[in-house]
Amino acid sequence: MNQRVLVLNCGSSSIKFAIIDAANGEAPLQGIAENLAASHSQVRYTDGQNKHTINLEDKADHKHALEAIGRILMQFTELRSSLVAVGHRVVHGGEKFTHSCLIDDRVKQAIGDMAQMAPLHNPAQVAGIESAQAAFAQLPQVAVFDTAFFQTIPQHAYLYALPYNLYEHHGIRKYGFHGSSHYFVSRQAAKLLNKDIEHCNLITAHLGNGCSIAAIKQGKAVDTSMGFTPLEGLVMGTRCGDIDPSITTFLMEQLGYSAAQVNALMNKQSGLQGISQISNDCRTLESEQEKGNERAKLALDMFVYRLVKYIGSYLAVVGPLDALIFTGGIGENSSYIRQQTIAQLAHLGLHIDDKANKDMRFGRSGLISNEDSKSIFAIATNEEWVIAQDTIKYAFNA
Ligand code: AMP
Repeated sequence: MNQRVLVLNCGSSSIKFAIIDAANGEAPLQGIAENLAASHSQVRYTDGQNKHTINLEDKADHKHALEAIGRILMQFTELRSSLVAVGHRVVHGGEKFTHSCLIDDRVKQAIGDMAQMAPLHNPAQVAGIESAQAAFAQLPQVAVFDTAFFQTIPQHAYLYALPYNLYEHHGIRKYGFHGSSHYFVSRQAAKLLNKDIEHCNLITAHLGNGCSIAAIKQGKAVDTSMGFTPLEGLVMGTRCGDIDPSITTFLMEQLGYSAAQVNALMNKQSGLQGISQISNDCRTLESEQEKGNERAKLALDMFVYRLVKYIGSYLAVVGPLDALIFTGGIGENSSYIRQQTIAQLAHLGLHIDDKANKDMRFGRSGLISNEDSKSIFAIATNEEWVIAQDTIKYAFNA
């Protein structure tokens, strides 16, 4: 019988869930419980054929949502009986967790202790873990950390040039996020290159609503663009990425912003949305720019320029490049962003194949570079599959 894992991704007001076949990554059931602790709480899910919506009582919490998910599973007898474990995506594992682990009280406590660094995520994930332990008491539960893949980054790359005691006493350093995605696409790229991952120098660009890029040398992460939080680095849908840190104090001292307002401005009102004042969605901006909208064009140009700068700097870091990889909603689907980016990197040996670039979308993975180029791939990511595989590994020592 198939070994299937219930993968849970608990956010502050939502729980994404999927049943994943650990052998092949297929998801026969997936959905989201949303608007938790607010009005119109509901669960939407698809069983592969049909889409369903179940309304929950208003302000339903994680416990109620997980019970509802449990009831949905009851309708799928074969799927439910093939579940062997629950895997939890945990955003922040700090320096403590260099790999996934079976959840016990000590692990749960450590995840909770890191709430200071991920206040929106880690408390919700502890609540999710506790509810899942109650709802699926017979199943082992495993935590898979977004940060773990980046624990190989050396100290000279992960430290900020701030007084060292801020790192020692408060853990202020670069951690990196989207680890499961960078892990997955780097391993897929090694397969496409027909090389051992330990012999691959790669640059992986995860471009979605959140964006991050990783430098991977001999199979190990040696740098990444997201930092102490997921705000640093590339231009994103609504996040600004790199800025001069003094802008923060200027906003507060000269313009009267509160800390919460600065936080909201940089995380929710900036990036593609902030520049264009139209949308955070790359599709909308591409179609607006085709109609001649200058701000949409500027936002896309800034997105590409920042990406080009990071690729250039990571080319210097990883050594001879085996492949550049695009993934995430934009990286997998936007032929335009890929083409614009690579056009600026011709002098560094990267050239696109126009036809392959146009064809490689909507879940297709493969080569998009021409024969004169270093390899460039678009690869559909599958973070849930990484979580499912790690869950089996750490639940059963497989
Ligand atoms: P993700 O966070 O990985 O789900 O990615 C979401 C983003 O992918 C959206 O904000 C869109 O901007 C982008 N996206 C999805 N499909 C396309 C597409 N066909 N062309 C351009 N961008 C896309």
